[in-house]
Amino acid sequence: MSEALAYPIDLHTHSLRSDGALAPAELVRRAAARGVRIQALSDHDTLLGVAEAIAEGERLGVRIVPATELNTESEWGDVHILGYFLDPADTALEERLKWLRDNRGRRIELMVERLATIGFPVSLERVLEIAQGGALGRPHLAQALFEAGFVPTYDDAFRTLIGKDSPAYVARVGLTPHEAVRLVRDHGGVPSLAHPGTAVELEAVLPQLVDAGLAGIECYYASHPADAAVRYLGLALRYGLVATGGSDFHGRGEHGAPLGGLWMPHDTVDLLEARRTRTGTTSSTPYFEPVKGRS
Ligand code: AMP
Ligand code: FE
Ligand code: FE
Ligand code: ZN
Repeated sequence: MSEALAYPIDLHTHSLRSDGALAPAELVRRAAARGVRIQALSDHDTLLGVAEAIAEGERLGVRIVPATELNTESEWGDVHILGYFLDPADTALEERLKWLRDNRGRRIELMVERLATIGFPVSLERVLEIAQGGALGRPHLAQALFEAGFVPTYDDAFRTLIGKDSPAYVARVGLTPHEAVRLVRDHGGVPSLAHPGTAVELEAVLPQLVDAGLAGIECYYASHPADAAVRYLGLALRYGLVATGGSDFHGRGEHGAPLGGLWMPHDTVDLLEARRTRTGTTSSTPYFEPVKGRS
């Protein structure tokens, strides 16, 4: 990976605690080497990598924002909710996240079965090995399919076998977008809509999510066309949402941008933090007043 300098904030990254390729500490080291100073670790359905990331961040001068990304199932397409400032020590939250991770495991088992039926047998054991204990996801399956020689590249697995309209795709059992926003809010976090370009009928679903407590929208995202970012900034203004951004770095295939690959305003994290509320949190972490007078 290139050591070229990056932008200082990255609010969307994945480690091997979910479907990224790098351990949390290694991910933070790579980000720090590129000049990232504030990084959210936003693994799917887990906060289990956060402590390791914070420890490495303290060593290297990178502020780690604890986060998770909740993929949802509904008529609205791929609605993914990023939850910021959640507490890894919140046991009630961990129980819900564990349920989501268990569902992920069952879904991947079903996809492995379906792949075998249509002539692409990969072993569940190998998929689990690739995942190294992380929250299971299609990226692990994609890598197993690539290794087995069934697809020419990792990304082709999504294009031909396990993407949404592909033959081995199985829908997930989990949260609706509304439930994901509520889950984050009920545990004292700040929800932002990830890569809004993957939602269907965004302008219809967005006001509903705002009513549920949505506080941000990921306007700065690599695979958005330039004019889309302007549209999302307009929606952020209209609904009073914080414009967030991030690389969605996984360290696998072409998906995502390099760490710190996206520009966003320098006060983005202060604005997000100001959207925390006291109510509903079961957190053992004290509530921090947003820093005033800093720009
Ligand atoms: P899952 O959570 O199991 O449904 O898998 C979704 C994950 O797969 C996303 O978080 C990405 O990491 C990855 N992904 C989704 N679509 C693609 C794609 N077209 N190419 C590569 N990776 C993808
Ligand atoms: Fe992912
Ligand atoms: Fe996502
Ligand atoms: Zn992501």
